[in-house]
Amino acid sequence: MVGGTWRPAADGGTFPVVDPATGETLLRIADATPEDGVAALDAAEAARSGWAATPPRQRAEVLRRAFDLLQQRREEFALLMTLEMGKPLAEARGEVTYGGEFLRWFSEEAVRIGGSYGTNPEGTGRAIVTHKPVGPAFLITPWNFPLAMATRKIAPALAAGCTVVVKPAELTPLTTLLFAALLLEAGVPAGVVNVVPTTNAAALSAPVIADPRLRKLSFTGSTPVGRTLLRQAADTVLRTSMELGGNAPFLVFADADLDEAVEGALAAKFRNTGQACTAANRFLVHEDVAEEFTRRVTERVAAMPVGRGTEDGVAIGPLIDSRAVDKAHRLVTDALERGATLHTGGQPVDRPGTFYAPTVLADVQPGSDLLRDEIFGPVLAIRTFATEDEAVTAANDTEYGLVGYGYTSDPARGQRLMERLETGMLGLNTGVVSNASAPFGGVKQSGLGREGGGEGIGEYLETMYTLTPDPFRARPTVHTHTHTHTHTHTPATATAAATTTTTTTTNEGAAR
Ligand code: NAD
Repeated sequence: MVGGTWRPAADGGTFPVVDPATGETLLRIADATPEDGVAALDAAEAARSGWAATPPRQRAEVLRRAFDLLQQRREEFALLMTLEMGKPLAEARGEVTYGGEFLRWFSEEAVRIGGSYGTNPEGTGRAIVTHKPVGPAFLITPWNFPLAMATRKIAPALAAGCTVVVKPAELTPLTTLLFAALLLEAGVPAGVVNVVPTTNAAALSAPVIADPRLRKLSFTGSTPVGRTLLRQAADTVLRTSMELGGNAPFLVFADADLDEAVEGALAAKFRNTGQACTAANRFLVHEDVAEEFTRRVTERVAAMPVGRGTEDGVAIGPLIDSRAVDKAHRLVTDALERGATLHTGGQPVDRPGTFYAPTVLADVQPGSDLLRDEIFGPVLAIRTFATEDEAVTAANDTEYGLVGYGYTSDPARGQRLMERLETGMLGLNTGVVSNASAPFGGVKQSGLGREGGGEGIGEYLETMYTLTPDPFRARPTVHTHTHTHTHTHTPATATAAATTTTTTTTNEGAAR
């Protein structure tokens, strides 16, 4: 969708969107070319000043209408996500709630873009700080949360007064397209949101990122692609936000409430069939409770119903594609070869679609690939530790730093984790941290910037600082001389007289 209208790709190309639970094609859609990407930026640029000048209250109300419309159409959105991405329907409904909250939150933030006014330390002037929309933004989203990853970027961008070009993941573009239609219905003017699905992300993105009219790049996806985009963004010194990969540690101390730790572990690991940047990747469990914890999670994991997301009661859907199944299996095989023990699962599921059995591994040995790489699948891998220092050192032993989880009944230990874990977020005695009102994001190679919370809108605002002299200082003497000149213009068709007044101000002693 470019400039508020649906259009074919410049070269007429299309591509199929596939249901990972069956391998069947759901629909073929236009395959945007680099030319289409630039046309989308043209549309965003054309809509830029109008949207930036739209009163914040009006922008807020449009977002709020979008929130209300999404609630009315939650089943439609949930089903579409389940079809194109595979997640169980109950989770897709949960994503409509989560994704929708960004619309509500940023509709509330749109009218609270503040500034400041203050005296400079010398007392000689007044500093005025204001915020302006940064300008057209390019938003690149992943396939794992097709709605929420779009609303988490589009809502703050629109609230701030920015227009956008969205490039959804090629595996799950339908939800974003449906959402773009909903935004039009909610009253977002044509050209403010443009969507360009493509099978050639790199080719489409390069000219958009290189275009000096683009002022912001916000990306959610893997760390290697994030690095590539950061390099490209350097050429035009583009503002960037990067929500990248994770390798979350999940720490269970001997003093933890094991019932709660098991519930939290299942939520942190198996939500979205393990395909979440926040997914717990490494379970570090105190040696005194490791056996009990392993036994309890294994019992639960072995009973998890696997199936198509639309089937009743399914907890584990398909992985997104066969490459994801191969990766999960390679990591499990490597861990087993290095000495881990398999408690349940451990292989692809023999049925059509791309399923991997929910798996529990214990005694995972240092050096195993799955301690370093994002598993992005339903594999719960356990290692033990003896001391808090050992646990924290192991938790921080990764290039990533998105989120960590810690289960302990000792408040002081909880606080120590908060201070010692090198992550942007911490779930303390909880397995899910995502919330529209909170600043979501990572440190180290998990990214730059924050989405949601008070910080989220700031990613789409520029800061402008103005200094004026102290208005109370003694005014300098001002001499005003007024000269009146009369100029006579004699164009071919008309004669006009213009009078100009020149004011000369002498501002003696004003220089400081
Ligand atoms: P990916 O990096 O392969 O792709 C993400 C997006 O980037 C897709 O739209 C893709 O088409 C596009 N892309 C790929 N190469 C590109 C290029 N050269 N130029 C421009 N665009 C390009 O990631 P994915 O497999 O879609 O998503 C999974 C990854 O996303 C995981 O690493 C996960 O941790 C991460 N993720 C992070 C967060 C977060 O908030 N930190 C949230 C969700 C997912």
